[in-house]
Amino acid sequence: MTNLKDQIEHLDGQIFVDHFREARRVAAGFGIQLDYSAASLKHRETFLGASDASNFLVTSRGIVTSCNEVLQHSNPRAKLFQYEAWNQEDGKFVLDHEAIDRLGKLNVHDMPKCQGCIAKFNCAGDCYAKSVSSTGDPASAGYTERCHITRELLKDNLLLALIFKMAGVNASGSPQHVCPM
Ligand code: SF4
Repeated sequence: MTNLKDQIEHLDGQIFVDHFREARRVAAGFGIQLDYSAASLKHRETFLGASDASNFLVTSRGIVTSCNEVLQHSNPRAKLFQYEAWNQEDGKFVLDHEAIDRLGKLNVHDMPKCQGCIAKFNCAGDCYAKSVSSTGDPASAGYTERCHITRELLKDNLLLALIFKMAGVNASGSPQHVCPM
């Protein structure tokens, strides 16, 4: 169970950004590239395979989920991310078509808050599981503290990409990637 809402103190996004920048500098000294998943420079309209039932993750209890944070039936986010289950008697998986329809709406085009955002096609609405934990609805109108983090770190990534390009260096050539969130 990774839903820590009400169990940890509220995150100050700027403090995270400051420490991430410091950690990034230290990591670079060891030849390690530190990434923040929502600030990717890739064009994306969905976030990390949770949409459209693209992820097919089977738990030891035969539950099929599109999010590796939501593995138990008791998880409050199960209705959104779990879309299939193993039927022992019939020896096959049983689809939940309504759940698949809900997963089909998990994309940046269905997120009102994202439409004017600089990170729209990079963040793609951010981690839907974390948004649900924070606001109860992945398409909720309000920004989360992660929105500030994403925009700041995306700006860093754009600047770094520009600097690398001007220096003729391939920014993706680092030997190791670490994603903390
Ligand atoms: S509004 Fe927030 S969730 Fe949407 S794209 Fe921008 S940073 Fe990401």
